Amino acid sequence: MGDIEHVYATYNDIHNIIAKSAAQIADEFKPDMLIAIGAPRPGFFPARVLRTFLKDPESKRNIPIQAIGLSLYESLPGTTQEQIGSEVIRTQWLGPESQILLGRRALIVDEVDDSRKTLHYAVSELQKDVEREVAKLPDAEREAKRTKFAVFVVHNKLKEKVADLPADVPYYSGADVGDKWLNYPWEATDIAEHDRLAAEAKAKATS
Ligand code: 5GP
Repeated sequence: MGDIEHVYATYNDIHNIIAKSAAQIADEFKPDMLIAIGAPRPGFFPARVLRTFLKDPESKRNIPIQAIGLSLYESLPGTTQEQIGSEVIRTQWLGPESQILLGRRALIVDEVDDSRKTLHYAVSELQKDVEREVAKLPDAEREAKRTKFAVFVVHNKLKEKVADLPADVPYYSGADVGDKWLNYPWEATDIAEHDRLAAEAKAKATS
């Protein structure tokens, strides 16, 4: 990673960020489905924690989590939005059950928004799937069945993005961070050392 500054996020840091965001998401977007972006990295973990905080205290009902997997190719400078789409490959998708999206309020969950390419691809491909399914319905039913999407990321890097998201897709970021490399606890092989580095950085920041 060269000279880029590393930031160590602990499980507790992430849990607390998600707890704080969940209240706002429950209030505003009210998702009834979570779509975790998976391979090659786990949006599963944040989605699972988020589900804990979105559980309806009365019905005790949990929100279902679906998973999609994406793999990215590096883009060259000057890449257009269309080309960006073709640089991402699906490694796992909803399969023929894309109808499960219909009529839902689906929150797409990922750990980090860096260049935004992954999120751009996920939203545009999911919307295409929805349009394909909606087209099979009678005209009068289409609007009600069109899935509402929103996005939640634990961390958003404040930097110039190479792709964007549709303006009508609500976007929630748990914490905005600089253009640094985030080390996640689920990637650590030595979690004690990971937590020690996180504590050391916190102590330095407050001294
Ligand atoms: P994107 O540029 O599409 O927003 O993300 C590109 C890829 O880089 C994703 O697989 C993402 O997880 C990974 N990535 C970007 N920034 C970080 C980071 O700071 N830490 C980790 N662990 N992965 C990152």
